Amino acid sequence: MFQNLQDKLDRAFKVLKGQGNITEINVAETMKEIRKALLDADVNYKTAKAFTDEVKQKALGQNVLTSISPGQLLTKIMNDELTTLMGGSATELDLSKNPTVILIAGLNGAGKTTFSGKLAKYLKEKKGRKPLLVAGDVYRPAAIDQLQVLGQQVDVPVYADRESTDPIGIAKAGVAEAKQKGYNLVIVDTAGRLAIDEALMNEISAVKEATQPHEILFVVDAMTGQDAVNTAKAFNDRLDFTGAVLTKLDGDTRGGAALSIKSVVNKPIKFIGTGEKMDALDVFHPDRMASRILG
Ligand code: GDP
Repeated sequence: MFQNLQDKLDRAFKVLKGQGNITEINVAETMKEIRKALLDADVNYKTAKAFTDEVKQKALGQNVLTSISPGQLLTKIMNDELTTLMGGSATELDLSKNPTVILIAGLNGAGKTTFSGKLAKYLKEKKGRKPLLVAGDVYRPAAIDQLQVLGQQVDVPVYADRESTDPIGIAKAGVAEAKQKGYNLVIVDTAGRLAIDEALMNEISAVKEATQPHEILFVVDAMTGQDAVNTAKAFNDRLDFTGAVLTKLDGDTRGGAALSIKSVVNKPIKFIGTGEKMDALDVFHPDRMASRILG
């Protein structure tokens, strides 16, 4: 994960590492290199600029120029700033309601259905909840099958209605079923589209209206780079989601989405997907991610 970015940052630091006498120019040059590395990793331009400006200011403020090991000090500042950039500390789900309704949204192929299964397993095993999965993707029968297979794997029941083509009705019926049968958590998987369009946004907004979810998790493929951030923005403008889920971080992703989403849409990343299996889910910890990026 992020190997490319790590290598580039490493190279950028070389300018400062081992330099007994560094100058403001060295720092400025290093920041330029770091900004280039971030842009190459698909970090949003404004985010990259604001970030390096901040690091530079802190570095000069903390007398990096006269420090014995400027490289180390700068790494520490970078680590702190990367952590802040990604949201500071981990953000928990609000599970206080009974039932808590969690709506899952995103484009086709982002990993919504896979994540729905993983989340059900996580909340059942780690948080002691009794979840019900709701198959809200009515357009693809295969999507219902897929959720049912995953439900079986993680031993969580799935509410589906193969006769219906009304996602709003299904979502409402799913929540009603949970209340009636005593499930304290409902995860509503929804349909996606290949790209953002009005019909998708209207539908998901209507499902939100009908189910009044306590959490809306926007799922996005980390490999899509800048597009991930643009998609996040479009979904957030319409849905005002409560958190993002970055999937496929096990792949050869450049990492830009992880670094940009919080600063662009001001919503925390809550989970990351690190594989296709049902236990390949991690709570997102900005500090751990920052250390990983810096290698
Ligand atoms: P949906 O259309 O948004 O519901 O997406 P799916 O859940 O069907 O996922 C699309 C594809 O991505 C499937 O082949 C999943 O197995 C795969 N996938 C989902 N999450 C991850 C992940 O975190 N890592 C990897 N490597 N693959 C994933």
